[in-house]
Amino acid sequence: MASKLLHGNPAAAGIRLELPRAGKPVFRGPHGPVPYVARWSAEEVQDAPVVETRQGIAYADESSVDRDENGLLWSRVSSRPGVGEPLYRQMHPLRQRRAMRRLLCQICAGPADRNEHGTLWLIQDQRHEWPGWPERAQNTHPPLCLRCARIAVKACPWLKRGYVAVRARSFVSGASGGLFRTGWPRPRPVLADARTLQFGDPRLRWTQADQLVRELVGCTYVDEILAG
Ligand SMILES: [Zn+2]
Repeated sequence: MASKLLHGNPAAAGIRLELPRAGKPVFRGPHGPVPYVARWSAEEVQDAPVVETRQGIAYADESSVDRDENGLLWSRVSSRPGVGEPLYRQMHPLRQRRAMRRLLCQICAGPADRNEHGTLWLIQDQRHEWPGWPERAQNTHPPLCLRCARIAVKACPWLKRGYVAVRARSFVSGASGGLFRTGWPRPRPVLADARTLQFGDPRLRWTQADQLVRELVGCTYVDEILAG
């Protein structure tokens, strides 16, 4: 596994491979650990032909791995972690989905921190969005372990712009991705929008998912724990 991950010599890009306690590979960039969920430049979005069916969209050459247990059609991105440059602002669909479904730390892929108040999340401060936010927020960023959360608030430029740490319970509530519309009378559907949609929304059948969404409930602010 390690030799496969090292293919392409990430060391040339200033990336080091470490094997922490959990035994999972963590790549280190110049600014700290590269998040497990980050996409790498060698991981390419496959140009898969999307076709229209009576139920929505599908791949012309679809196989069982293209859909998850919820019936969501997932975008195809090759898997080559550690090869090329880390793209910090993008998440790899498969790793994001795995971390979200299993509540794994988005940075080290170990179990996210959890106590009686719920799992630990770092989310962009959007208190202006609605009274009571982040209750019922639809979140696409997987949770963190305490150790990685403390590193992330110091190292991550996105988090420096204003984050809140919350503990919350959550459930997988939907998906985010590219929403297609019918191309009728042409045979090919047309990519129309990027949307976050909740289960039960018929438009999910027209969505090429690239992120799994969890709804946060029973939220408690916990900023002070990150100071330690
Ligand atoms: Zn972690």
